[in-house]
Amino acid sequence: KRTITRLPEWLKTPIPSPGANPNFGKIKADLRGLGLHTVCEEARCPNIGECWGGSNKAAATATIMLMGDTCTRGCRFCSVKTNRAPAPLDPHEPENTAEALARWGLGYVVLTSVDRDDLADGGAHHFAETIRRIKQKKPTLLVEALTGDFMGDLDMVKVVAESGLDVYAHNVETTEGLTPYVRDRRATFRQSLKVLEHVKAVKGKEGIITKTSIMLGLGETEEELWETLRELRKVDVDVVTFGQYMRPTKRHLKVEKYVTPDEFELWRQRALDMGFLYCASGPLVRSSYKAGEAFIENVLR
Ligand code: SF4
Ligand code: SF4
Repeated sequence: KRTITRLPEWLKTPIPSPGANPNFGKIKADLRGLGLHTVCEEARCPNIGECWGGSNKAAATATIMLMGDTCTRGCRFCSVKTNRAPAPLDPHEPENTAEALARWGLGYVVLTSVDRDDLADGGAHHFAETIRRIKQKKPTLLVEALTGDFMGDLDMVKVVAESGLDVYAHNVETTEGLTPYVRDRRATFRQSLKVLEHVKAVKGKEGIITKTSIMLGLGETEEELWETLRELRKVDVDVVTFGQYMRPTKRHLKVEKYVTPDEFELWRQRALDMGFLYCASGPLVRSSYKAGEAFIENVLR
């Protein structure tokens, strides 16, 4: 029997066309030449026009994937390839990434990666080296790192936190109760809170912005969401984002609910009322959604 899944109207968006933005051609050519990978392109993110294009050039944002395309973990919401022994790191990646980013007109870059539990340091030094080189070549480029939990090794969190970045992001993804069903079994909600807490311990409360992201529609209750936000505020997380969970394939977790745009707006207001510095919230929001614009408007002003 065939089942037809109907998407609500607000999730039906046109696939972004590269021709719609004059910057695309140059950016794409640079990417190919330097062997870099943007999540924006590879995930065919519907926000690419807003993030890369936008009216304010200084706020143009892209997300770069470091350390390969194969993850040592297997979260039940994520379609990234999994293998216990991914390819070794490319030692030229920090330099090549910095070089490419210095040439682009981006104002804000998000560096993220698969989880590399196979490496003794989880890739922390590779991350930190990339950030240092970017800041050497283009000090004005705002840098956000979106890292994994380094299996709870807080010394590795420190290595990244001290590398000169502007925003440290680590995603809790969902509520504490749903975490064992949603994330890889090596990830826990408490461990993720410790990562976020340690960044502030290393840099000082005002010394860095911390950020996390939550997917809605996985079966979380309102009370669980309130509790999640309270826990995040307790460790001084500055920024939270909410987006709709979308099932990548039938082998992944089912969508329990399509949250309406009005509900997303309600959660944005609630987050701001609780003291978060800013919050992006909407059906198509990803943790890096217009991150440059939000940072410039809320932190630099
Ligand atoms: Fe996907 Fe990250 Fe989980 Fe790896 S750790 S499976 S990249 S969400
Ligand atoms: Fe890229 Fe993130 Fe923006 Fe999507 S939301 S286009 S992945 S920066």
